[in-house]
Amino acid sequence: MKAYFPSRQPASGDYFTKLAAFETVAGGAGVACVRCGYDILDALHLDHKENDGVHHRRSQGAGGSGAGMRTYRWVCQFPDEARKRLQILCANCHQIKTSIGYLPTEPPMTKEQITFLARESWELDCED
Ligand SMILES: [Zn+2]
Repeated sequence: MKAYFPSRQPASGDYFTKLAAFETVAGGAGVACVRCGYDILDALHLDHKENDGVHHRRSQGAGGSGAGMRTYRWVCQFPDEARKRLQILCANCHQIKTSIGYLPTEPPMTKEQITFLARESWELDCED
């Protein structure tokens, strides 16, 4: 894992709690995205493997501001359960999973592949 970028704020207790949570979930495998290997902590997320993050955050209290820190503290309290339920994803891979509903293992399609599939399926509206 690479060090965090210098910021205007010095590393706080919250930062070290976050780091401890990510190291716990990584379980010695290295703090990095499980899909692509990206390893800058500032752009890594803890992902609920079974897409039950909303339910989990509600069980920890309200979502929104502070939800991340509540999750990090939960990880430190329940490391075995956390390793079962959570995985580390980078922001990009997390967004891909959120968009399509699962974490793909296949490489992304090229623009040409997408265009071919679209032409097979329906008329493109933006064609000349
Ligand atoms: Zn990734």
